[in-house]
Amino acid sequence: AELPGDPNTKNRRRQVEGAFYSYASPTPTNTEPCTVAYSPEVAQMIGLDPEECQRPEFAAVFSGNAPVPQGVRPYAQNYGGHQFGMWAGQLGDGRAISLGQAVGPDGTPYELQLKGAGETPYSRMADGRAVMRSSVREFIASEAMFYLGIPTTRALSLVGTGDKVLRDMFYNGNAAYEPGAVVCRVSPSFVRFGTFQLPALRGGDQLPLVRQLADYVIRHLYSHLEDKADKHAEVLREIVRRTASLVAQWQAVGFVHGVGNTDNFSILGETIDYGPYGFLERFDPDFTPNTTDLSGRRYSYRNQTMIGHWNIAQLANAFIAGGIVDQPTAQEIVDSYADIMTEQYTTRMARKLGLKEYRKELAVGLITLMYEEKADFTNTFRAMSSVSASDEPGTVPEKLEQALEGLTVDRYKAWGKWLDEYRSHLKAEGRSDEERRREQDAVNPCYVPRNQVMQEVIKDAEAGNDEGVNDLMRVLQRPFEEQPGAEKYKVAAPKEIRMGVELLSCSS
Ligand code: AMP
Ligand code: MG
Ligand code: MG
Repeated sequence: AELPGDPNTKNRRRQVEGAFYSYASPTPTNTEPCTVAYSPEVAQMIGLDPEECQRPEFAAVFSGNAPVPQGVRPYAQNYGGHQFGMWAGQLGDGRAISLGQAVGPDGTPYELQLKGAGETPYSRMADGRAVMRSSVREFIASEAMFYLGIPTTRALSLVGTGDKVLRDMFYNGNAAYEPGAVVCRVSPSFVRFGTFQLPALRGGDQLPLVRQLADYVIRHLYSHLEDKADKHAEVLREIVRRTASLVAQWQAVGFVHGVGNTDNFSILGETIDYGPYGFLERFDPDFTPNTTDLSGRRYSYRNQTMIGHWNIAQLANAFIAGGIVDQPTAQEIVDSYADIMTEQYTTRMARKLGLKEYRKELAVGLITLMYEEKADFTNTFRAMSSVSASDEPGTVPEKLEQALEGLTVDRYKAWGKWLDEYRSHLKAEGRSDEERRREQDAVNPCYVPRNQVMQEVIKDAEAGNDEGVNDLMRVLQRPFEEQPGAEKYKVAAPKEIRMGVELLSCSS
């Protein structure tokens, strides 16, 4: 019989019951792998000397090319998920293989996961590989999010495999062979909402796995809850709190995940699985970066707060099915999402505006103007700190006008009117411009990974030139600091691209 835990089991695609993982080894590449970029900070975090990252052995290990050392047993995780609102059954790590854990100086065991290192029992119809394009995007965005202060999985490395991978999508207009790559993702855990859902929705003899997983998660990741009598309810409460806070942070920075399926929500409240994500550029609340989401816009900017709530409800359903939380308790916990989300969101929006107190009419007024202006989300907020309580009434500060790329007479009037309202609140709160500016500039970034810049560095990386990726990474490591020579990373997408990005698909 093929036991899920049998290391001799071939990676045959199959339904795996009674287990949360299967042993699966990386498939070596046909060509010599080459490191494109790495994060020295993540290396240090997992107890690795960053110098090591430059050696060919590093590329070999983190592309999955090196033979697995004795005692190491790589594995792929098993999970299910709701995709676009529909239960999809077993999904699992179809192209992610965990090498194991590394304990860094902070004592935390981090899981090291190779994304794109070949097939696993969960690969379904696909090849288990990843292309350079999507790997650059994941590497850059996960590190950028970290430096923006938003919870996220990290990325240790981006290694080109030298192999060609076939993708039948509309990239460059045609189905094409693309260069392959492997990203090493790093997190204390990659357990997802969908990991709980799979046994819960299979039901029957799989149900006890829900409790087993909850106990594992509490013991290893929420150990401060271990001794609580109602530890299962408490862990659910904590996951709700972290998820609500995460989504609020996405909204405040203008990050749109693009594929908020339940298998892409982490039980640690980290941003996970960077696919067709996008940062808001030309402000539009209906923005979704995902081509497969254009009719429904389920995962648009506007809908993300609701999707977090919906996903939490699915996780709670799994806890109920597993008999570890009763229905009324679960309901009460799920209901707490809205208040936490709103509190987190309004606090952050107030901070972005340099106000102690959130003013709803003011925020709505600004967002409306930004929509009408096709204003660049990041640049507009960054320029807000140039407003002063003592400005001449009706005027728009130069820096803000620049961020808005000039204003017609009518539009100038409209902004001037809103700014007078804003200035009256600033005056009423009575803080010095200087103090407020410092705080605002610490929460409104100058730099986010813009789609057009990303496309450029991807082209370079595909052609074997690593400089673009590394230069962009350096800038994104200090997103709140104006950096000389980095102006090109602030250029807004053309106004005609209302969404601010060329659309992206999941197929990567
Ligand atoms: P995602 O949309 O990235 O969350 O992926 C959904 C599911 O498809 C997950 O189970 C992935 O592991 C799987 N998947 C995505 N791309 C591939 C691929 N190239 N090979 C195998 N499985 C994949
Ligand atoms: Mg996924
Ligand atoms: Mg993905």
